[in-house]
This record gives sequence, C-alpha cells and structure tokens, in this order.
Amino acid sequence: MPAELIDGTAIAARIRGEVSAEVATLKATGVVPKLTVVLIGDDPASAVYVAGKARACIEVGMEEDTIRLPASTSQHELMELLDRLNGDSSVHGILVQSPFPRQIEPGAVIRRIDPAKDVDGFHPVNVGKLFAGDRDGFVPCTPAGIQQLLRQSNVTTHGLHCVVVGRSNIVGKPMAALMLQDAPTANCTVTICHRYTRDLGSFTRCADILITAVGRPGLITADMIKPGAAVLDVGITRIPDATRKSGTRLVGDVDFEAARQVAGLITPVPGGVGPMTIAMLLRNTVRAAQRLAAA
Ligand code: NAP
Repeated sequence: MPAELIDGTAIAARIRGEVSAEVATLKATGVVPKLTVVLIGDDPASAVYVAGKARACIEVGMEEDTIRLPASTSQHELMELLDRLNGDSSVHGILVQSPFPRQIEPGAVIRRIDPAKDVDGFHPVNVGKLFAGDRDGFVPCTPAGIQQLLRQSNVTTHGLHCVVVGRSNIVGKPMAALMLQDAPTANCTVTICHRYTRDLGSFTRCADILITAVGRPGLITADMIKPGAAVLDVGITRIPDATRKSGTRLVGDVDFEAARQVAGLITPVPGGVGPMTIAMLLRNTVRAAQRLAAA
C-alpha cells in the first residue's frame, strides 16, 4: 500500500489560522505584532521569498515592513540598522534575508539581532537554548515545522530512531537537536549524516523517521528506506522538465514515487515541508510579540 501523504499545505493553513486568532487577541490589547525583514541587494530568489513572507504576515493580520538596502551596504550600516530595530518597541521580529553580499559577515549579523526578536532562531543564545532544552528560545522555522508535521500526523516519536541527513545550521543540526529533546514529539535516538558519512544507506535503512535536508535530487532511493518509515523531505531543487509549461519543476532529495511504495508516511515536494517554514515564522513572530508585551 502506498505511503500516506503528509499534507503540509493543509497543516500550515491550520497553523496560520491559529496564529491569526492569536494576533487578534494581541491586537485587542493594543499590540500589533510586527515583523521587519531586511533585504540586501537584488537577488531575485530572495525577493520572491521576502514577498511570500510579507504576504503571509498581512494575511494573518500582522504588520510587516521590508527594508530594502543596496548590495553596496556596508557591515557598519547594517549593524546600525539592526541596533535601531532592536531598540524599536513596535518591532517584534527581525529577519535578515540570506544570502548576504560578500562584504557582510553572516555570523556578525546573526549575533547583532536581539535574541528576543530573533524569529529565525539563529542567534547563538537561541541555538544554545534549543540544545539545552530551554523552551523559551526560538526554534528555527523549518525544523520546528517538521516537528509540527510529525505531531499533526500523530507520529508517536518516543524511542524511535530519527536519522537526519544534512548538518546545516538552519536545518540539519537544529532538527537533530529538536528530536533529541526530552519533550513531546521528540525523545528520539538521533543520528546525523553528512557528506563524509560512509555508506549512507546503512544509516537511513535503520530510520523510523528519515529527515533529509541536502538539496540533491534522487539521493534517497527506495532501497534506502525502512518499510513503514516516516520520510520528511526538506530538499528543494529545480530541475528541467520538458512536460511542464515552465520547462522546470521542483523536486526533493527523495525518489518520491518509488519511496512512496515503501514508506508509511511521506511529504511531497512541493507541498510538504515548504509551506510549514513560513507558518512557523508567523508563529515565532507572534510568540515574540506576546513575550515582549508581557516583559
Ligand atoms: P546546506 O547548507 O547546503 O546543507 C546541505 C547538507 O547536506 C550539508 O550538511 C552537507 O554535508 C549534506 N550533504 C551534501 N551531500 C551529501 C551526501 N551526498 N550525503 C549526505 N549528506 C550530504 O543546505 P540547507 O540550507 O540545509 O538546505 C538543504 C536543502 O533543503 C536545500 O535543497 C534547500 O533548498 C532546502 N531547504 C528547504 C527549506 C524549506 O522550507 N522547505 C528550508 C531550508 C532549506 P556537509 O556539511 O558535509 O557539506
């Protein structure tokens, strides 16, 4: 029997509905949650992502402000802007869209954002809180979204073996940390794989929950999946497809059609993990507004 599909679009819509209700409650107390996004340069993909985030904020009743800076912006100018946003009590969430121009040091940008407004969850304080199991930090949006997909799909994760393929700071590492916690929808035995992992399949075949965040189409074939496993595919790659009007289509890391015959649960690409990322960004921003209002 083919695997059950995890419908990320529907689950994300539900979360957006919950966020919308929380925004309305905050507004009734005079607080309008606001996300400020800083976009440096004119990378077309970044502009599309930022527009999507802005639209999502408006849809749930939040305020959104996109500050567009030229590609020539200096590190000093960006730091001054972040200091101003950190001190602005009307701003609850700050996000600087990556990639950055060469003269900007990403680590310095992440460290400059007030951890209380770091809705991406990349500041070392929030990373530390995640690893330490302190739940008052912000969890990066994509891993938080994947945990939600497992929760909403009623996967009892306790004691399961979760294998994460990919060890980036934005997906792989926080994902592994999240599933390791002594917490609901966690308590897994966790393995992290990366470019140097020998015999990747020997690890993935042991996974009850397989999360892949690499960006290599076809990396995970059906024979690398344990029968009945939950497979969550974070990878997004645009490949040529002459049958489509656009001439391209998006695919994940998993050989989807074949994997579907083996897995128990699986996310499609697109429509699986992707929609959850913005939903969790909205949720993090509301949380920031709630906490800053209560402080
Ligand atoms: P990244 O920073 O490039 O990290 C990729 C990871 O994959 C690295 O840790 C790398 O290992 C590992 N890797 C590369 N080749 C491998 C192989 N053959 N076997 C095992 N591991 C291998 O990418 P990322 O930012 O985490 O993103 C990963 C993918 O997810 C991309 O396709 C991206 O577009 C997508 N993504 C989607 C969302 C969403 O909302 N759906 C959000 C973020 C990212 P090393 O560390 O050893 O190099």
